[in-house]
Amino acid sequence: MKTLCALAAIVVAAVSVVAAQPARRAIALVVSGGTVVTQNATRQILSPGAVAIDGTDIVEVGDVQAIAAKYQARETVDARGQVVLPGLINTHTHAPMVMYRGLADDLALMDWLQKYIFPAEAKTVSPELVRIGTRLAALEMIESGTTTFADMYYFEEEIAKAAFAAGLRGVLGETIIQFPVADAKTPAEGLARAERFIREFKDNGLIVPAVAPHALYTNDKATLVASAELGRKYDVPILIHFAETEDEVRVAREQYRMSPAAALESIGFWGPKTLGAHGIWVSDEDIAILKRRNVGVAHNPESNMKLASGAAPVTKYLAAGVALGLGTDGAASNNDLDMFEAMRQAAFLAKHATKDPTAVPAQTALDLATIGGARALAMERLIGSIEAGKRADVITVSMTAARQTPLYDPISHLVYATRGDDVRTTIVNGKILMKDRQVRTLDRATVIADANRLAQKVREAVR
Ligand SMILES: [Zn+2]
Repeated sequence: MKTLCALAAIVVAAVSVVAAQPARRAIALVVSGGTVVTQNATRQILSPGAVAIDGTDIVEVGDVQAIAAKYQARETVDARGQVVLPGLINTHTHAPMVMYRGLADDLALMDWLQKYIFPAEAKTVSPELVRIGTRLAALEMIESGTTTFADMYYFEEEIAKAAFAAGLRGVLGETIIQFPVADAKTPAEGLARAERFIREFKDNGLIVPAVAPHALYTNDKATLVASAELGRKYDVPILIHFAETEDEVRVAREQYRMSPAAALESIGFWGPKTLGAHGIWVSDEDIAILKRRNVGVAHNPESNMKLASGAAPVTKYLAAGVALGLGTDGAASNNDLDMFEAMRQAAFLAKHATKDPTAVPAQTALDLATIGGARALAMERLIGSIEAGKRADVITVSMTAARQTPLYDPISHLVYATRGDDVRTTIVNGKILMKDRQVRTLDRATVIADANRLAQKVREAVR
């Protein structure tokens, strides 16, 4: 009798244990143990925390024990000693231009474009260069924690295919420009190409096709209007360079008797899915136009400093509530795609330009590269922060280098002491693209060898 009672007690105890621990939900991935910098509305930080991921989405963000008790993951990323961060968003680049990295430096924008870059492109841009260049850019972006990039170039379908194969998210705009270029002899041909490209990639889960009229000074009014109409017809983003140099302002005043921002407004160009890169030479009225039209602006501090284009009024944009993101611009004017460096330079340039050390503090610079970039691309419901229901675009960043020691404040280190090389893990759309610095979606040696081989052709073409 006594044994029976004891046995019954064991059974009851066992049942209650099972009842207290319901079956854990099977999911794909947990990133656990790091300091989770969520970038959500309250800028919550969990230290340590864990992120549960399944399919393409973030399922839950919480403390390590709670997530472990609830979920059984097929794969775990151990993020102890690291910061877990939303993937960085590069709102302005020209990915294949990594092939022109270091080809012509130390020049003003118009000299650099007209004497070197446009001629080099005329001789060498091809589907092959775009494909090989994009793979190289994708490798660099994955290795430095960029998970989404907005692009403007030629043969954009090749960029889309290469980015998709590498697993990156892209807002990719086919360039429309008035003069003959490698993939279109006329703007009309460019627009037809852009339309085919949009139709081909419209429903892709990673690639958002876009139309990218190069700038006000490289397109006539009819082409700009047609580009905007094409974007609106398919409800896709419209990307443009604007107000990058004082010279551009002078040309706009001659041609339109207005600033570049006002000229684009006067032809009905701006709208909620337009993204303007640079926006350096803008008045308060221009900023008010951009805010009223819900235009996203891409700030490119490194390119702007290197080409001595000027300093965008970042604090004014932010005070006005304009959706501001951060970009590297093409690698030929930067010369890399490291968004950590872009954050640091955004902070430094704003302080220097305004003579105010409180301008663009570290948290603001981090915002520009994450949730700010998402807003600028009108994608803040999908990306830009680590929150349940958003796409799982997540990176982990090592915080143990000598230059990151001691660690008082992870936000300070992310902006002022961290480099792209410190990124350990890159996850996009729930898929691990890099773990422990091993890129899974690209063969590193082949990508580098292909780029070096192609560089011989570029060298010969511009000799
Ligand atoms: Zn650019």
